[in-house]
Amino acid sequence: MSTNKTTTTIVIALVGLIAAFCGCFFNFFGVLWVWAAFGPQEANPGGRLVQGIVMLVVGLLIWGGAAVGIYFLWRRMQPPPEQKITVEQKIDLTGEIDLEKLKCRNCGAELDKDSITVAEGAVVVSCPYCGTSYQMVEEPKW
Ligand SMILES: [Zn+2]
Repeated sequence: MSTNKTTTTIVIALVGLIAAFCGCFFNFFGVLWVWAAFGPQEANPGGRLVQGIVMLVVGLLIWGGAAVGIYFLWRRMQPPPEQKITVEQKIDLTGEIDLEKLKCRNCGAELDKDSITVAEGAVVVSCPYCGTSYQMVEEPKW
């Protein structure tokens, strides 16, 4: 879904840029022409005033439309709150080892939970029968 989000972001940016530019263009000439129509020169009386008002309205409509469009796109981009997933991982090292099948590497005696210690992330087996102490090679599977 991240590609959708990226696409939406690009669309929002493009629409915003185009709308801002077009809106500025229309509003700039609209204000200029309306202002010129009331100016002292009156080079083109009447015609420019209507043209200027139309351009102003179009420019404002572009800005408003873009703002509404961007708002709805932005709203759609927000993930719904119920999709939040809290990942909780419990790692119980000694619990993952099958103690009943564990036997001493040296003498073959069956080892219980007390013979196994976890030190610095490594599983160390201390056999109470022969006194051997070694680190378990097998990676615990989870
Ligand atoms: Zn042993």
